[in-house]
Amino acid sequence: MCSHLLVLARAFLILLAVFCPSLARAASFACDGRLSAVEQAICTDRRLSQLDERMYSLYKPIKRAYPEAVFSQRDWLKYGRNRCTDNACLTQVYESRIRQFEAGSFRNWAAINMPKMAAAGRAGAGVNYQASQKNSAAAAEWMRQNKILETGLTFAKARYAYPTNLQVAAMSCKTPNAFYLLENEMVVFCYELTERLIHQYQNALSNGLTTEQQALQRLLYSVHYVLQHELGHAALHNRRAKRNFGNQESEADNFAAVSLILSARNDADLVDMLFGVKYFSDVFRQQGLTLDALTDEHDLSERRYYAFACLAAGANATVAQQFVKISQFTEARVKRCQFDWRNGREAMSNLNTAQAAAVRQ
Ligand SMILES: [Zn+2]
Repeated sequence: MCSHLLVLARAFLILLAVFCPSLARAASFACDGRLSAVEQAICTDRRLSQLDERMYSLYKPIKRAYPEAVFSQRDWLKYGRNRCTDNACLTQVYESRIRQFEAGSFRNWAAINMPKMAAAGRAGAGVNYQASQKNSAAAAEWMRQNKILETGLTFAKARYAYPTNLQVAAMSCKTPNAFYLLENEMVVFCYELTERLIHQYQNALSNGLTTEQQALQRLLYSVHYVLQHELGHAALHNRRAKRNFGNQESEADNFAAVSLILSARNDADLVDMLFGVKYFSDVFRQQGLTLDALTDEHDLSERRYYAFACLAAGANATVAQQFVKISQFTEARVKRCQFDWRNGREAMSNLNTAQAAAVRQ
């Protein structure tokens, strides 16, 4: 019996060795496939591999607890680790990163920032605008004056059921992003994100790619797409008993897409929305399947735009024909997109408020 087990165990280990050649190596990335010089150095050096494993085992729970840690990690990779040209440098940057994690710098960061974010949301039922840092003051003022977030929130609240205590806060958070803080039932929209988007549209304007009115309309849709994505997290969180097939980021993206498309008044709106999502995804375009892209849980930017385009084509025959005409989509793809659109709409109706459902009947 025991010897059988031993044989089995040995066979399993051999299998493991055959199929997972990188398992004993670096932990934060696979050692097979095309590697950068730095990754190669880590994979071929036992000490560096161990350091990488240690760093990653500390980083994983931190990232789970504080999703914002991905930005810091991305910077560490880009401006720290990947600039090394020898093993001594790599050893040093890994050791200092490990010390940083062990010292709990992220816990401290969160202790300072999270309660502030949570407290910020409690002031009222609408959107709470926090004071902005100097460099994003213009973006903050633009959002506040035009009641950008209020519009999107009112639209969504009239249709979908949210956690009772849902709050939306706009603030400076040192990173161009937006979050849904699960424990606080709170959406945080960072001024820095709007600032980045405004910059992108200013570029498009100065390059003569859009008119001013068009740019503004598309900028609004970029912001709304992000807001609806975060509200999607909140609505899905509210209906956690009805989990779908896994990836919450894709679900939040689809929620945002369907929500936006349903709010379009005409074909022209829909085209502006398509550009809005495209501009947004251009701002955050990743260089293919890089480690940077993998450290962020969001789908690749391109994929987010394609998913939106497919739903738009599925919802609207004119848009679908345009895509076919410029050879973006085939007729067969359009059929599948129509199927996706019907599914998406149906899934959304599960998230309707009681009032919205009653109105529809
Ligand atoms: Zn998300």
